[in-house]
Amino acid sequence: MPTTPAPFTADDYRARMARAADAAADAGLAGVLVAPGPDLVHLTGYRPGITERLTVLVLAAGQEPVLVVPTLEAPDAEQAPGAAALTVRDWTDGQDPYAATAPLLDVGGRFGVSDNTWAMHLLGLQKQLPGASYVSLTEALPMLRAVKDAHELARLEAAGAAADETYQEILKVRFAGRGETEVAADLAALLKQFGHSQVDFTVVGSGPNGANPHHEAGDRTILHGDMVVLDFGGLKHGYGSDTSRTVHVGEPTPAEQHVHDVVREAQQAGFEEVRPGVACQEIDRAAREIIEEAGYGDLFIHRTGHGIGVTTHEPPYMIEGEEQPLVPGMCFSVEPGIYLPGRFGVRIEDIVTVTEDGGRRFNNTPREMAIVE
Ligand code: ZN
Ligand code: ZN
Ligand code: ZN
Repeated sequence: MPTTPAPFTADDYRARMARAADAAADAGLAGVLVAPGPDLVHLTGYRPGITERLTVLVLAAGQEPVLVVPTLEAPDAEQAPGAAALTVRDWTDGQDPYAATAPLLDVGGRFGVSDNTWAMHLLGLQKQLPGASYVSLTEALPMLRAVKDAHELARLEAAGAAADETYQEILKVRFAGRGETEVAADLAALLKQFGHSQVDFTVVGSGPNGANPHHEAGDRTILHGDMVVLDFGGLKHGYGSDTSRTVHVGEPTPAEQHVHDVVREAQQAGFEEVRPGVACQEIDRAAREIIEEAGYGDLFIHRTGHGIGVTTHEPPYMIEGEEQPLVPGMCFSVEPGIYLPGRFGVRIEDIVTVTEDGGRRFNNTPREMAIVE
């Protein structure tokens, strides 16, 4: 029986906030400012509705974390899973929230600011503290959320298993004669059935639509003879799933089979490159090399992978130029593809975690091309 993982405790959040504050100090920062969004969820478990009123977590080494919130949100903030590990300080409508926050910050310091902080809030703080400077949190601390602990890995593994169950079930539904959006709705229902609380995307790219990696699902009726790119995921117990398989309606042509074989080989090569110390860009290079050698290099038009955690897409990225070395506990996608404009596309994607001596997949359904009806 699938079990619900034990919730993260205030101690878990205390440890995460301390780690972030220490990492900031090591990076020469006076502290870290975190607005509502994935970083705040990861550090405190607090998920407020996004409003124009300032909410910000202030972290600095050797200092107790302070969460600044509007007064009307304070009761909710006090109930956040990590609330016992921080102090809530509120400001009331009519007060200047930046003036209320400024005393918590080092006047001349440099602060890491979470990437989704509204410009208006950062500008408000700059006005109060003209001597302080700011840097993107992802730029300053790219590994802040990248390395997952055992509890997080268990959630990501469970989310991956649920996505795998979804794939096994979708192979049984009818494709030919149905709209892409109908199959997409089936995928969403299955993700929920297997425990997802949130569905982020359900790509059904049939025939020529599969050649557009941004295509989600549209009016097109799926035909016998179509390649169909399936790419779906969301959140289960707060952690992400994201997997792709490309299926064929009826028997494929030798040319279609060949393209699929190349992508599968590239995906395997990317996976086999995963081990501690290898730079992120090497995963991209390993997958891309296979596709280039097969003559499809110009048709692999996106990066090979992205991180995953409390969101389904986050740093680090498996892309040329990303020299960050892999560390055990990191989790990311390996998802090469080939896109033939006007014809079809193929993408195969697994979430992979870095282990002490290699990589381990969280998606384990067959990668061979499945034939659907
Ligand atoms: Zn075909
Ligand atoms: Zn995907
Ligand atoms: Zn992905």
